[in-house]
Amino acid sequence: MQKPQNIKGMRDHLPQAMLLRQYIINTLTVVFERHGFEPLATPVMEYAETLEGKLGDDEKLIYRFEDHGGRKLALRYDQTVPLARVVAQYAGQLALPWRRYAIGPSYRGERPARGRYREFWQADVDIVGSASPLADAEIVLVLTDALAALGFPSFTTLINHRQVLGGIARASGLDDVAASGVYRAIDKLDKIGTDGVREELLRSGVTDAAATRILEMVLLEGQAETVLSELGHRLQGDERALAALTNLRAIVAHLQAMGVSPERYALAPRLARGLSYYTGAVFETISSHWPEGSLLGGGRYDELIGLFANRQVPTVGLAFGIDRLHDVMEELGLGPRLQTTAQVFVTIFSPEQMAASLQLTQELRGAGLNVITALDADAGLGKQFKEADRKGIRYVLVQGPDDLARDEVVLKDLGSGEQRSVPRAEVATTLRALVKTTRR
Ligand code: AMP
Repeated sequence: MQKPQNIKGMRDHLPQAMLLRQYIINTLTVVFERHGFEPLATPVMEYAETLEGKLGDDEKLIYRFEDHGGRKLALRYDQTVPLARVVAQYAGQLALPWRRYAIGPSYRGERPARGRYREFWQADVDIVGSASPLADAEIVLVLTDALAALGFPSFTTLINHRQVLGGIARASGLDDVAASGVYRAIDKLDKIGTDGVREELLRSGVTDAAATRILEMVLLEGQAETVLSELGHRLQGDERALAALTNLRAIVAHLQAMGVSPERYALAPRLARGLSYYTGAVFETISSHWPEGSLLGGGRYDELIGLFANRQVPTVGLAFGIDRLHDVMEELGLGPRLQTTAQVFVTIFSPEQMAASLQLTQELRGAGLNVITALDADAGLGKQFKEADRKGIRYVLVQGPDDLARDEVVLKDLGSGEQRSVPRAEVATTLRALVKTTRR
């Protein structure tokens, strides 16, 4: 006998967990479509070369293998690089700017931990073919609406720009090569603290004075306008950094015009974001309920699609981590707690009443209710009630010979213990009203 086991970091989702995941996915889908995003699906496997050279240090986490034909393949690491391939491959068929969403699994050979898996689902939204800061703001708006729709009580989207980080590194006298060490050090701020980052900066060859300047800038906090004008003073003369600040100012102005509460976002010069393909604004949403890291992240990547096409296609987007949303929602008790899909259990009084019960069941399904019947016509009613209770189904129907004769159905509410007779013609309407008010 073989030991049943799954791969570490790749999870089975049993029905109760799946019901909450599906609720999350459905809610996100509704919000994405409300903003006019269109669905896209791509295979979980790509040619390895499609993914290679796009992810920087993270490339070592790609799952690679050879198939039967000796082709070098890889499991997708995210849904962004496949999007870039699609945009280049179907250029003539996609009307730009294009708002797309994609919800599916990605794979990374990570060391599994809480909220960090080797197979995990991401829900991506991207706006392809627009360099406008309005597109960046729209992405932040969509994520804000989506988290609100899921019932998240508190979260903040940190916003920064790659060229603000570049400017900070340049202001400290570092060239582009040394700058990447600086980003890596800054990225660890939340994990290793200010002293840890300082040590790391010194180790990577930054002088003590430069480390102080870098830390002063990356630790700036407060109102968006204040942070932007402070950075403006310190980055004087650096055209690229000043252009980045102008871009961030425009994004913030659009967010204000869209009515996004200022509590929902913050300028954060410390935000580095790991993936190497970002070129402009970067985002990351954090929540006090998820101290382990980010709930979701993204940014502008204007040069990624150009690696597959002979033109640049400016694009901005982000990816929700479904697993992290799920873990937090489970902990906070957000979203519905469904045990099963069925709302109603129809008992079979005796083999003679089976046909009537099956007919009633089909009728209720036709009226839009989720219904199951007992499968064992010989089981007593007591056993059938127990089955409904074990499954977490609240409403149970009984139709015995007397009820049939009176054209009635007995409706028992296992939640309250109440029981009453309902005219057969009104059963569907009565149940529909009940499940609407009790389905959490
Ligand atoms: P990234 O593609 O690295 O920018 O990640 C975007 C989002 O995907 C993160 O904020 C997480 O919510 C989620 N995510 C990334 N890596 C993992 C992982 N290994 N396990 C679970 N969720 C992840």
